[in-house]
Amino acid sequence: MKILITGGAGFIGSHVVRTFVNKYANYHIYNLDALTYAGNLENIKDVEDCDNYTFLKGDINDADLIDSLFKKYDFDAVIHLAAESHVDRSISDPLAFVRTNIIGTVNLLNASVKYWKDSSKKHLFYHISTDEVYGTLGETGLFTETTSYDPNSPYSASKAGSDHFVRAYGETYKLPYIVTNCSNNYGPNQFPEKLIPLFINNIVNKKPLPVYGDGKFTRDWLFVEDHAAAIDLVFHKGLEKETYNIGGFNEWQNIDLIKLLCKIMDEKLGQEAGTSEALITYITDRPGHDRRYAIDATKINTELGWKPSVTFEEGLAKTIDWYLDNKEWLENVTSGNYRDYYQNMYKID
Ligand code: NAD
Repeated sequence: MKILITGGAGFIGSHVVRTFVNKYANYHIYNLDALTYAGNLENIKDVEDCDNYTFLKGDINDADLIDSLFKKYDFDAVIHLAAESHVDRSISDPLAFVRTNIIGTVNLLNASVKYWKDSSKKHLFYHISTDEVYGTLGETGLFTETTSYDPNSPYSASKAGSDHFVRAYGETYKLPYIVTNCSNNYGPNQFPEKLIPLFINNIVNKKPLPVYGDGKFTRDWLFVEDHAAAIDLVFHKGLEKETYNIGGFNEWQNIDLIKLLCKIMDEKLGQEAGTSEALITYITDRPGHDRRYAIDATKINTELGWKPSVTFEEGLAKTIDWYLDNKEWLENVTSGNYRDYYQNMYKID
């Protein structure tokens, strides 16, 4: 089977590429990535020489390129992760999100419809999405697969748009598809604009820890390798035209998560208790900030038998160890443009 994985040099994509390349010697994995600020070939260096792996540098916004790649490689399936993925960036540049997340997705859908005409062959367009499309929850309740879409940020609106296009192509052109909506991921290789790696990096560098609003925003957290395992399972066992919610059964208010992270970091760095917490700095809230997300992952659990393999404490410890052992990776990705972005975003320092 020839599988096109998009965004495989990014955070989640790199774990998905590694899983598929290492586990399925009989598949060929094509990793298409534009290598934006968030894409880094270092993330998948360990598989670059594998016989069943090919890296393709390219932009999903380029419809001609996408068409030519489908023609040349005759992909059997797509696992689509390439996206602009950071909510804060979507507030300052929404069009970049419309382009990649909506138009880029439609380019891939168009090529799939055009080249997947042979009904004797099995095809699948597997679209990776987020729980943020559902909008915000109150103090109680969970997002299920039937919760209506109610996106509040340009990022979540663009992901919602792409989800709708995938379903529409399923209905209109009979494209075989699956969509999964996952909660917040954390783990090795995540770009340090996102909360957990940002805070690990800031604690190491003794910089302020910027906390939005009252810090009581609630998210469900899932270790990235568990998400990659879920994607593997859904790709092989999921039912066409279905949506599966993926989550960690692991809700945390930001401030409690940050305090836990500070505690573990103090221990790992051999610092006096409370050293990292003293860096916490409350900043003005993000506009349109959703109060609470929480995933009901019962369907994937009962129908496909998936559940997370690590506890939050285990995943967090693994993640912190990885960042402390890979300071060079962190230094490389936080040089250059990142500095301007950081100064602009948090307006502290
Ligand atoms: P990321 O930002 O770390 O990686 C995105 C990758 O896509 C990068 O390698 C980047 O170079 C590539 N890319 C961006 N624009 C491209 C373009 N126009 N053409 C080709 N490649 C392009 O993102 P991530 O956190 O790994 O997220 C991957 C997917 O999972 C996204 O679709 C995201 O919406 C979804 N998701 C993320 C989370 C999370 O917590 N990170 C949770 C649920 C769903």
